[in-house]
Amino acid sequence: MIELSHLDLSFGEGSSAQQVLSDVTFNVLDGEVFGLVGESGSGKSTVLRCIAGLYDHWTGTITVDGHPVDKNLGKEHYRKVQMVFQDPYGSLHPKRSINSALIAPLQIHKIGDEDKRINEVLDQVGLPRSSRFRYPHQLSGGQRQRVAIARALILEPQLMLLDEPTSALDVSVQAEILNLLVQIRKERHLSYVMVSHDLAVITHLCDRLAVMRQGCIEEVLSKEALLTGKMKVDYTKTLYEASRSYDRAMANQLETA
Ligand code: ADP
Ligand code: MG
Repeated sequence: MIELSHLDLSFGEGSSAQQVLSDVTFNVLDGEVFGLVGESGSGKSTVLRCIAGLYDHWTGTITVDGHPVDKNLGKEHYRKVQMVFQDPYGSLHPKRSINSALIAPLQIHKIGDEDKRINEVLDQVGLPRSSRFRYPHQLSGGQRQRVAIARALILEPQLMLLDEPTSALDVSVQAEILNLLVQIRKERHLSYVMVSHDLAVITHLCDRLAVMRQGCIEEVLSKEALLTGKMKVDYTKTLYEASRSYDRAMANQLETA
């Protein structure tokens, strides 16, 4: 589904240039849930943004579903690849109703059947159809993230890029949203790349994961390798130990992807 090869990216010019991604290489298979973990600032969101086609000043190669991601990216890419951000309050316009948030992508991509599609997607994310005419501030954090997920799903993408999709939510609703994502992926046969700083959660949900540090991939490993302590890099071990006591209780509430 994704092939990413020797990706380099810097921000800024000349002496103030900061290299943010160095030689990032990994692939994601069709239907796979792939995790990206690492400390804050390690470049996880930047990798997602490159795949989404939101940056074009990188070098290397990216292909999604066999098509190169480059400067001539067509509308089709933006339909196929959808992103869900960390903070649903920030990603939804406060003055626009849920209905207009959901109708906008359909209009941009000239897709009809608006009423039917909106009702279906609200059903799928577990929101009442009546929430269509509400505004973001009238919903809870968890409900807002359900809207953001609905907005991504309404274009029937093949790939969802999930950037810490629950880290802005109360612990009590995090598992609920993660389980919803697991369920949606099973029903729609989607591929996911999921960013998290929580290795316990990622291990639970993902088939394979990449560990990032300072813009580099430290290692790519399977869930089994992680669970049986077969990581090759000490940094992964440190992250794993740190997450062990931390969010086990939450990970135990999750369904398996
Ligand atoms: P993560 O998601 O792993 O926390 P990011 O990908 O957001 O990390 O950021 C990686 C590095 O790139 C950080 O040092 C951040 O400050 C820098 N960075 C990210 N976006 C920009 C930008 N638009 N302009 C300049 N620097 C940026
Ligand atoms: Mg980030």
